[in-house]
Amino acid sequence: MARVRQKNVTAATWKSPNGHAALGAPDLTVEDNNPFGRNVFSSAIQAERLSKDTFKRLQSTLETGASLDTELADEIAEAMKDWALERGATHYTHVFQPLTGLTAEKHDSFFEPDGSGGAVADFSGKELIQGEPDASSFPTGGIRATFEARGYTAWDPTSPAFILENPNGALLCIPTAFASWTGEALDGKIPLLRSMDALSKSAIRALQILGDQEAQRVFTTVGPEQEYFLIDEQYYFERPDLVTTGRTLFGAQPPKGHELDDHYFGSIPERVLAYMMDTEIELRKLGVPVKTRHNEVAPGQYELAPIFENSNVGSDHQQLTMQVMQNVARKYGLVCLLHEKPFAGVNGSGKHNNWSMSTDTNTNLLEPGDTPAKNFSFLFFCTAVLQAVNKHQGLLRASVANIGQDHRLGANEAPPAIISVFLGAELERAFESIATGQGDGLTPGSSLGLGTPVLPQLPMHGGDRNRTSPFAFTGNKFEFRALGSSMSLAFPNTVLNTIVAEAIDELADRLEQELQGGGELPEALNTIVRESYEANKQILFSGDNYTDEWHAEAERRGLKNLRTTPDALPEVTASTTVEAFEAYGVLSARELESRLEVWTEQYVTHANIEAETTANIAKTMLLPAALRQLALIDAAEIGTLAEQLRPQVDELVTAIEELQQANVYPDGVEGLELAEFARDSQLAAMAAVREVADRLEREVADDLWPLPKYSEILFVR
Ligand code: ADP
Ligand code: MG
Repeated sequence: MARVRQKNVTAATWKSPNGHAALGAPDLTVEDNNPFGRNVFSSAIQAERLSKDTFKRLQSTLETGASLDTELADEIAEAMKDWALERGATHYTHVFQPLTGLTAEKHDSFFEPDGSGGAVADFSGKELIQGEPDASSFPTGGIRATFEARGYTAWDPTSPAFILENPNGALLCIPTAFASWTGEALDGKIPLLRSMDALSKSAIRALQILGDQEAQRVFTTVGPEQEYFLIDEQYYFERPDLVTTGRTLFGAQPPKGHELDDHYFGSIPERVLAYMMDTEIELRKLGVPVKTRHNEVAPGQYELAPIFENSNVGSDHQQLTMQVMQNVARKYGLVCLLHEKPFAGVNGSGKHNNWSMSTDTNTNLLEPGDTPAKNFSFLFFCTAVLQAVNKHQGLLRASVANIGQDHRLGANEAPPAIISVFLGAELERAFESIATGQGDGLTPGSSLGLGTPVLPQLPMHGGDRNRTSPFAFTGNKFEFRALGSSMSLAFPNTVLNTIVAEAIDELADRLEQELQGGGELPEALNTIVRESYEANKQILFSGDNYTDEWHAEAERRGLKNLRTTPDALPEVTASTTVEAFEAYGVLSARELESRLEVWTEQYVTHANIEAETTANIAKTMLLPAALRQLALIDAAEIGTLAEQLRPQVDELVTAIEELQQANVYPDGVEGLELAEFARDSQLAAMAAVREVADRLEREVADDLWPLPKYSEILFVR
């Protein structure tokens, strides 16, 4: 099968471990001495170790997206085991992504007693294909009653198996999906795979109407840009809030913070650079095509970005990336923070999700081309994206909701909670000229040389950027910029794929109608693009998304502004969501319900842990420090200082009492209602404690204050 290589792939030395599936990154050859893909059971390794026939059958299964022939499994398992043992593996695991958004694994040994005091390595096709983790502790949102507390994992042959090295051994990791015995998806991978299939079907249908009879399959692609903080582990372990919640629950603003602009793209401290290089080597061994690294806006903040891959592999690789980043940090006495907002008042961390669609014949469907046919298809697919984002703006917002994001979205460092699309001036002008039926000086109506004035010239380069937009066209892809740094890519991309599949079909239906009415393709396309653009252009915004004016304007337009997680989550089961997800077989109403339930519960759990930790630290660490300071002042008999401090200590005592009351949940309140209680009462009481405590941090003697301060934590050397 043809491999898709995008023009903007520059790191030609990096080879895809899995050419058929890893759109974007080039192929792997076995002879390569580059560590790239060294620990991946890649297609090159498979070609080497499987019989010709089995290899061919596996490849064709993967290319057509069909399910795997079970009789192949034994031979593949055997080859995988031998390869893994040679690389030092002693155990294997089915890796999966439960609804917590984290990665889960259960290790099994390859070795079984041979009956005569020795051990024999064994790994059958059955063990490769299916596993049965003790799944009762993973959230299911009511899907699985406890009496049938069994789920199973199923091998995903489209995401390559790999070996994780450890100083004391190695582990063969097999990417798997996780489902209930009744067939419901209990993870992020199953719906993502289903949504990729759905989009492929819709897109191929549309391409055929548009005159492309060659493409057989369309893959969605994802390239995430991961932001993170690095801090010295000493400070981390001195801060119970960081250890238990991933963020600081206290901390006065540092005297020197954001003003330190020179951090951005500045030179990287040696220890940090060593960490980055080590992380990248580890990731390359695992076949993750890491490409760029640089400093981010805040001190101690950095970014890592890979070359894009197909959504499934890209999403698995992103989980792996987060894991490796955190593991390697410890080797350098560092801790890698992936929380969306580890430090109040300091820029938080996000994860830009670059998204596009590519055919198996090398065409990026969101790249304007140099032929009329390419541009027809570009216009069609771009219109579909606008239509989808406008219709499902609430769901997109919900797909990036979590408690950490509530500190970030709309806080002048990240897009607002309002979803809008930035197209860039040139492209917007092209759409406008279609809508008005008039070209302008810059977009002469007949420039496509078709003898038809209906389609304007399209920009070849996405020149302008808007860094404040949550959803921006960037020349050959859309960049969904609202993801949080700790998030799995699975659900946001599942949503994108599903809603765009739906919009493609809606537009394709209209296009067929127009063509059946006897119209020519350019005119028919022109008609449906105009229609859809007129109906959906309220979603376009090219101004500064951080301003109050935009909030007012968005409200006038009737766009949704779902400020917090409890506001956004109900969109997961909105009627428009259920309709689209059921129509495309991505998630059933019940599976959507279960997600709403799990994510609501997670919000409450995290709010509660934060609030309990706040009360605890305030009472047992900060209040005693303030009292010691007071004693010091009393002993020195400086009345004015005592008068200043005593009321603040009283305030702290009151605030702690109020928080402790809010930490007791009212009887009978649950679900979203409880989430709202947590937000409005508990988190509010927590903020009040912090406000006083942060004031006290500036009053209390440095050697009495028990928590490392922002000014210490944020500067790694
Ligand atoms: P910039 O956005 O700064 O111009 P790049 O063009 O390199 O930088 O893209 C940034 C991210 O977008 C990278 O992670 C890259 O892999 C990803 N990307 C590029 N092309 C695509 C595509 N067709 N589909 C998905 N992601 C892509
Ligand atoms: Mg970006």
